[in-house]
Amino acid sequence: MAFTADLHLHSRYAYACSKNLTLANMAAWAKLKGIDLLSTADYTHPAWLAELEANLTPVDNGVYQFEGVRFVLGTELSCVFKQGGRSRRVHLLVYAPNLEAVYGIRRMLDGLDTKLNGDGRPTVRVSARDLTARLLDINPACIVVPAHVWTPWYGVLGSKSGFDSLDECFLDMTPKIPAVETGLSSDPAMNWSVPTLAGKTIVSFSDAHSLPNMGRELTVFQGDAGYRDLSLGLRENRVERTLEFFPEEGKYHLTGHRKCAISQTPGETRQAGTGCAKCGRPLTLGVLHRVMELSGGETVTQDKLGEDAARRSFTRLTPLVELLAHTMGKGRAAKTVAQAYHSICTELGGEVRALTQATFEDLKRAGGEALAVAITKVRDGRVEIVPGFDGQYGTVRPWDNGA
Ligand SMILES: [Zn+2]
Ligand SMILES: [Zn+2]
Repeated sequence: MAFTADLHLHSRYAYACSKNLTLANMAAWAKLKGIDLLSTADYTHPAWLAELEANLTPVDNGVYQFEGVRFVLGTELSCVFKQGGRSRRVHLLVYAPNLEAVYGIRRMLDGLDTKLNGDGRPTVRVSARDLTARLLDINPACIVVPAHVWTPWYGVLGSKSGFDSLDECFLDMTPKIPAVETGLSSDPAMNWSVPTLAGKTIVSFSDAHSLPNMGRELTVFQGDAGYRDLSLGLRENRVERTLEFFPEEGKYHLTGHRKCAISQTPGETRQAGTGCAKCGRPLTLGVLHRVMELSGGETVTQDKLGEDAARRSFTRLTPLVELLAHTMGKGRAAKTVAQAYHSICTELGGEVRALTQATFEDLKRAGGEALAVAITKVRDGRVEIVPGFDGQYGTVRPWDNGA
């Protein structure tokens, strides 16, 4: 048994997030995509929590249901604090085993003068270490997972306001951190090459700010879609695989300066330095650069993993809507693209199945030959990549020439 989970989501109460992120819409999109377990997101926000309380039905310990879709209580907290003489900003995903724990977390955050009725992803003025200790005091079954750990500004290992190791950030609480989230700009192989992450489970979720982006990265856990097997999955690395963006498509993969259209590989940065060749200001160091720094220059790639059984496989995906826009010669937001997307997902049992498992013949029947060819090329890694940098998404396209 296995379940597909997206446990980094936001509601319409989080800043910069779509007003369409309602429970009903989230459940409908989970079905369309084929996701078994969602995070409720934003449970510290009073209005959203009231909606959760009114609409979710308990299924089992720590797992709730809405219109046939399962949810666990999960949110993101933004820690802003000083440590080691520097300002730090670290985002944490926090899962709670029940509503009582959520009420306890809200009281604790209230006591720290945290504004809970603004952003669904509130800013907490306490260190990531202390927040972790307080959360586990409320209920030891709470789970803390650092979010998008490589993101320059809000990742625990990010180049701007992060740390060089989990130990440096979490101190004595480090063993209580079971897992880390890769973020879009890195994949599990890049993370396996970093010594500070040894023994931590590597997970991938979408961090979607809109419905179509739900499930753009996912983790497949062993067991039954609920809190117990989620907890075991994170603590004991019972992960079957993750479904990943190409890390180059993430918006912080390479080092660069968006305004100056400068982007550099780690090799180029070693030669040219970390100042912008155009404006002279410091470049935003990318995730690949940072991973190289913290791995001592050795990065593992998927093809070099060999027979290491402890390291499960992962699958690189390109969102179906992007492949449709490409093969139809339309924009992502075009009505015909949305219609094709819905009909393919409905016919093939969800986007995840269409991208990873559907046969060429099924894809051809549901979406036409060009789409079947495009999906096959992405599965085989036959893609053209322009890497992202300094907040600009990269692009991944199936090869245009040849079959
Ligand atoms: Zn975040
Ligand atoms: Zn510049």
